Order: sequence, then structure tokens, then C-alpha cells
Amino acid sequence: MGIINKFESSTFKRSFQASLIKYTIVTLGSHSALQILKGAKDEGFKTAVVCTPDRKTLYSSYNNFIDDILLIDKWSDFPKLESNLIKRNSIIIPHGSFVAYLGMEANKSMKVPYFGNKLVLDWEENRKMQRSWMEESRIKVPHRFKKGDKTDRPVIVKSYGAAGGKGYFVARNQKELDEKLKTFSEEKFIVQEYVIGVPVYFHFFYSPLTHKVEIMSVDKRYETNVDSLGRIPAKYQKGYDIEPSFEVVANIPMAVRESMMAPALEMAERVIETSQRLMPKKGLFGPFCLETIITSTEEIYIIEISARIVAGTNCFINGSPYTYLLYDEPMSTGRRIAREIKNALKQNKLREVLD
Ligand code: ATP
Repeated sequence: MGIINKFESSTFKRSFQASLIKYTIVTLGSHSALQILKGAKDEGFKTAVVCTPDRKTLYSSYNNFIDDILLIDKWSDFPKLESNLIKRNSIIIPHGSFVAYLGMEANKSMKVPYFGNKLVLDWEENRKMQRSWMEESRIKVPHRFKKGDKTDRPVIVKSYGAAGGKGYFVARNQKELDEKLKTFSEEKFIVQEYVIGVPVYFHFFYSPLTHKVEIMSVDKRYETNVDSLGRIPAKYQKGYDIEPSFEVVANIPMAVRESMMAPALEMAERVIETSQRLMPKKGLFGPFCLETIITSTEEIYIIEISARIVAGTNCFINGSPYTYLLYDEPMSTGRRIAREIKNALKQNKLREVLD
């Protein structure tokens, strides 16, 4: 008979589980809030959502896992709630709407304990910094044309701070690019090689407790109108003057060829290793996504690193084929975040996962 580990004893398990109710997992009512809060409740935490009155009906309909709805008139009122949240022993879980709704500064100066490393925010938002992060991680990125460069292939123009592909446009050559830029109002943008291939979004989770990168799920986006152009034969498109656009409408689950999982995982590991050098102390941890385009020669280009939970994980609230391989229970990315907080509490390392 071996010695029973303290964490394995049933008395410890029961009292530890009961103690989780002292913490409230909180997020903004948008993006992947339902997934995050369902996961937190499944792990045993109290839950609360912060939202504007127009969303009250939606979140009240999930009172089976959302304990409190904290209403604010407008998103910019969020800081007024902070002292209340701190009193409740809250832990904020950020998602894709945080910077968009609260702004970068409010996000960074938030005093409520926050799951993740806020230093990553600048590296995610600033396209030049993100590019050097990708290059140092030795991953393939589409060629970027600098100001004044002549383009020699089709390009995609991306404004800074765009969300979900809004406002992007493509140009087949330099002449078309010059024409389109004349009416483009954005000041900060990049001109990038347009990679011909299929977009594939790999979702990962890096645990600073186990030092392991886990593959959570994979999705592709359903973008209007670029995903529908092929439905109309070219000869009928001619008279229409249609411009391809890339606005995300939905996410579609995928299972990729197993042989492609190996390079994707290796890239994810390098992205984490590099982040630990570039972003002092903790680097990137928690959920992140490598947004890729895979070409016909099986080259994987990374177009972006999303350093947080992405909306594509909403396809997998009940777990994915990949999480099924690691966990014997439904494990969404939202639940995985709550599990990490729980494991950190168990090991007395909560500070290691909070900012
Ligand atoms: P989010 O921040 O929500 O992830 P985004 O606004 O940063 O989105 P991207 O994911 O960079 O947008 O790109 C949106 C879409 O544009 C992609 O899904 C893809 O269809 C297309 N796209 C972006 N970059 C390229 C590229 N270099 N070559 C081909 N297509 C591209």
C-alpha cells in the first residue's frame, strides 16, 4: 500500500470542492461568455456575467449556470463595477470582446484579478510586434510589403484593430492596390501577400502548471462573401463587380489530417517558448489560436496568433475530438480555463495564473 497523496484523499477533495464557491468567475456578456461560465460552473465556481441591458434576456435564460447578471448601461462603465467584483473574490476571464469593448488601457489597468498575462496584449495588438514574435518562433508568415515596396503578387490589405476580417480588401496587382488605397480611409494598415490555400484555425491551451501545450480543437470560419463566391460561376460574376470581403459570420468544426497536427503542435510550442523570452516572467499561457492558411503543397502559413480564447471554440462547448483524447469528460476551452484555476488553487499557485 502506498501513502495516500493529500490531494487524493476524499476528505480533501470534498472540502476543496466546497471551497471553490468562494470564487466568482466573471466575464463580459459577449463572444464566448456562455462557454466560459458553463465551464466555470461545471468545475464548481460561482459565476457572474457583466453586460448591457439589451443582453439581459439572453443571459437570464441560462440561470442554470450563471449565478448573477451585473448590468451596466454602457461597456465603458465597467470600471465602476471593479470594487464590487474585488469584494466578491472575482476572477476575470478575458475573451475577444474585451479590448474591443473596454479599450486597451481599461483592459490593462483593470484591478480585478485577471486570468492571463496582460503583457501579451501589446504583442497581440501591434502587428509589427506580433510579426517579430512569429519570426522568432521560426514559423512561416505571408510576405509583408513595406511602405513604398512594389508588390509582385496578389495582396490582402488589413487595417489595425480590425475584428473578424471587417474592412479587409484584396488587390491582384500594384495598379489595383494604388486605385483601392485612394479610397481607403484607415491610417494604419499592412499589405500582405494573399496566400492561396484553405484557412484552418488551431486552438490550443498552454498550462504553466504542467508546462504542456494541449490541442483543444480546430475550426474554419464562414466568411461573407468570400466563402460564397465560388457558388456563382465566374461567367455570371462578371457583370456584378463583386469585391471579396472577409467578415466572419460563423465557425465550422474541423478534424484535420492527423499528419498536420504534428507541425501545428510544434509551431504552438515554439510560439510559447518565444513568448517566454519576449514577454517577461510568464509569457503566453492559457488559451490561444494559430490562424493558418494551408497551401496545396502543405505549407502552413500563420496569418495571426490570437492570444486568448477564440470564438471558434464555441463549436466545442461539449468537448472536441481532441479533448476527448485527453479528458474523460466534456472539456471545452472555457472549462479548461476553470480547471487550470482550480488546479492552481489546489497547488497554492493561484498567483501564477493571474495578472
Ligand atoms: P480575428 O482578430 O477575429 O482573428 P482578423 O480581423 O485578425 O480576425 P484574420 O484572421 O487575420 O482577421 O483574417 C480574416 C480572414 O482573411 C481569414 O480568415 C482569411 O480568410 C483571410 N486572410 C487573412 N490573411 C490572409 C492571407 N495572407 N492570405 C489569404 N487570406 C487571408
